[in-house]
Amino acid sequence: MRRIRGAHGAPSRALVMTRRRVLILGGGHAGVRCARELLEQRRSPDELDVTLVSRENVEVWHGLMPQIVSGVLQAQHVLIPLREILRGATIYSREIESIDPVARRAVLSLGGESDEVTLEADYLVIALGSVTDLSRFPGLSEHALQTKTIGDFIHLRNHLIEMLEAASVTTDAAERQRRLTFVVVGAGYAGVEIASEANEFLRASLRAYPMIAATELRVITVDILTRVLPTFNDRLAQRVVDRMRMRGIEVRLGVGVKEATAGTIVLADGSRIETRSIIATVGIGTNPLVRALPIELQRGRIPCDAFCRVPGWPGVYAAGDNAAVPDPSTGQAYGAMVMVAFGEGKQAARNILADLRGQPPEACRPARFGEVALLSRSYGVAQVRGIALHGWPASLVSRALFLSFMPTWRRRLALALHWMGSALLSDRLTPLPIGRSNMVIPMRFAAGETIVREGELSGRFYIVTAGDVEVLQRVDGEERVIRKLGPGDHFGEIAALGNRRRTATVRSLTPTSVLSLARQDFAALVEHLPALHDALEAYPTSRSSPSPAGGGEQGGHVTAT
Ligand SMILES: Cc1cc2nc3c(=O)[nH]c(=O)nc-3n(C[C@H](O)[C@H](O)[C@H](O)COP(=O)(O)OP(=O)(O)OC[C@H]3O[C@@H](n4cnc5c(N)ncnc54)[C@H](O)[C@@H]3O)c2cc1C
Repeated sequence: MRRIRGAHGAPSRALVMTRRRVLILGGGHAGVRCARELLEQRRSPDELDVTLVSRENVEVWHGLMPQIVSGVLQAQHVLIPLREILRGATIYSREIESIDPVARRAVLSLGGESDEVTLEADYLVIALGSVTDLSRFPGLSEHALQTKTIGDFIHLRNHLIEMLEAASVTTDAAERQRRLTFVVVGAGYAGVEIASEANEFLRASLRAYPMIAATELRVITVDILTRVLPTFNDRLAQRVVDRMRMRGIEVRLGVGVKEATAGTIVLADGSRIETRSIIATVGIGTNPLVRALPIELQRGRIPCDAFCRVPGWPGVYAAGDNAAVPDPSTGQAYGAMVMVAFGEGKQAARNILADLRGQPPEACRPARFGEVALLSRSYGVAQVRGIALHGWPASLVSRALFLSFMPTWRRRLALALHWMGSALLSDRLTPLPIGRSNMVIPMRFAAGETIVREGELSGRFYIVTAGDVEVLQRVDGEERVIRKLGPGDHFGEIAALGNRRRTATVRSLTPTSVLSLARQDFAALVEHLPALHDALEAYPTSRSSPSPAGGGEQGGHVTAT
């Protein structure tokens, strides 16, 4: 069943389905594998509908993203459109706001100012992955470059180019050195690959910056563990360290990060490294939606049985990074890795189909082809079916594995051609500037248009720059004008800072222009600008007490939205 909530919080319509419905939350490797398996294996008598919800309408190939840093791949080569590979599924490219696992229900927001959608299902699969949480390291949240999303990687590449540009014209010797020092925190897959790709990229780019000597460039990898790539055998891990050092990377193992500022990172042994570039590949945190579930998590993950089911919640399954599915042979939960996400997603789908058909479920045993890591165009390490490889043979094997996991032949061919193309014609120095020209967005509304609606989830804070608007609230089922606002007035702060639902409707009376600010940016401003916080605090009564019907007054500063 799908419900659309109306403007005033009341369900406005409901679609009743007789078919059984699987709702998959998350469109990463686990969610997509689950949906594909269901779509491929369902039969007419199953009468099964598959719905998938994810923030983006693409599956992101994290393992390929480090290659964006060096320009070997571009963003579109690591993104697979969900609508291309999940034909037959209903896809909601939306933010999930809350999950009710008992009722197998999820509330989605459509982004910005909009209605919300509630989805209910017979089977719920939670595959929301993990998030980056740098709060354990003081200063890292503020100053580290993150490495989780495609935007993070585009930004990282732009940043590296920006540092070369800035260093090349800086006359202050200390600042120049800071700009030419790059610290990668973490030496797992992402850390080792990013440090290596960034190092290759920076050193090769120096040809375009003759004023910078290669000896001035420092790329440093730091990890609290005493070895890199924990899932590889000791010999291969040591080879990787040797290779990194040979290429000029300083590898500092067995030392953690203590804190960071805008220009320095301090390590646990007290050493300080002056830098403008801290690249964080550490800090895996629990998705806030998973943290909010009424269940005791197992080291931040949803405890499951070997069949990917969540005990206590019939019909609820979990898969991928957010699930702790035990390996039947050891009892230990599988790690957070691509192959595990694939295996758990697929097995959850198979067990849902088995449940529908009255068959017994099967335990999850993800395929173990092995581990691969690509450090540069021609160097990789691989551990495949017990065989350890390094150098170009491992690079070929790694690429072959990535190609074999691409979901369609079209995608395989596109990736292979791009690898070949970029080997012949490398693109070193083209940044992809993605900054918006406006963080504060100007908007125009015609007379009579609704700007925000009572009861909806809020997205933005607004300042009226021209024209007049009226603020309306529902009292006893009737809409009443409680205030009129003009240039210089603002609205939207209560929902933006508080419970997220609009407490009033705002409609333009004349052609109106507003400036709008995303709620998270506005919340950060209010938190850190005491004067703004105090100004908002100073008008508590006008927020909550509606004036008599039709009794709008001109010139208030704060409204109830
Ligand atoms: C840079 C990097 C490199 C890596 N390299 C390797 C590697 O070489 N080998 C390896 O085995 N593993 C690697 N990993 C780990 C691997 O990518 C993960 O284990 C895998 O992606 C887990 O899949 P998942 O489906 O559980 O989560 P994800 O792939 O993270 O998918 C989660 C999905 O849920 C969606 N979502 C989350 N919250 C919401 C919300 N509130 N509303 C809507 N949608 C939401 C997200 O948008 C995303 O689509 C790497 C990870 C990173 C970040």
